[in-house]
Amino acid sequence: MSAEEKLAKTLIDAGGKALFFTGAGASTESGVPDFRGPQGLWKRIPPEVFDIDLFYRDPEYSWRIYAEYVYSQISRASPNRAHIAIAELESLGLVEAVITQNIDKLHQKAGSKKVIELHGTYDKVQCLRCGFHGDIKDFIEDFIREKRVPRCPKCGRILKPAVVYFGEPLPSEELSSAFSLAKSSKLIIVVGSSLSVYPAALIPEIALDHGAKLFIINESPTHLDKDAELVVREKAGTFLEKVSNAVEEMMKSSKQKDESLQ
Ligand code: NAD
Repeated sequence: MSAEEKLAKTLIDAGGKALFFTGAGASTESGVPDFRGPQGLWKRIPPEVFDIDLFYRDPEYSWRIYAEYVYSQISRASPNRAHIAIAELESLGLVEAVITQNIDKLHQKAGSKKVIELHGTYDKVQCLRCGFHGDIKDFIEDFIREKRVPRCPKCGRILKPAVVYFGEPLPSEELSSAFSLAKSSKLIIVVGSSLSVYPAALIPEIALDHGAKLFIINESPTHLDKDAELVVREKAGTFLEKVSNAVEEMMKSSKQKDESLQ
């Protein structure tokens, strides 16, 4: 049995209790660079630029980096074959949720309905004083033109992109629903994550501890490879498209078998 057939069969057998856990590698085929891959962002800028302390020390610099390296890339991106295949598998009733570390909204744009965003979303801003949330579009053009750091229209404090910076906690509701889904899942499929950013990376560990099968689709090694049923070193888009086709074939042939028995 090929790798894609093995995953397709395991997905069908999990009867809807399957989770996808995605990282930046799920979006590199959409032209959004990951952090730690060979073309990753860390090759061009240091991780410290996304520290919350730096944001408050030098908000203008931090907004400039965000506008240049994050917003401009992500706002141009479209879903790739990995996002599309995951959404198709969900529409067939095989995926309970997509838990993502990505902030790029590409799962939703591909049609996934149940997406848990652990690190926020690139297209919103938030005020850490009064809780205001708004569309980043209403603020970022002004910043790019006039270099004036966005301020909260309600209380005047500096606004921050609604993404989790290093040193900030993850959103508690999202984290706890991800943990509880992980505890009851039968299968978790990691796509494009180095599994090195915690607490997000706890999610596949929790699923494993509660008896789920683990599949990893990642171009480079992770510390959980040894625990996986299968590790696939192909591009996520290429592989997941094959999985989605294999699932459709298997479902079609089992329907035909059922019909011929009636
Ligand atoms: P990471 O950069 O640490 O790891 C990405 C992994 O994906 C690497 O191991 C790389 O080898 C692999 N990879 C790259 N392209 C691939 C492909 N086409 N197919 C299969 N594997 C591929 O990213 P991470 O684990 O998600 O780290 C978490 C952090 O990344 C989070 O803080 C997240 O918010 C952030 N992030 C998000 C985006 C985005 O929204 N698209 C972009 C960059 C970083």
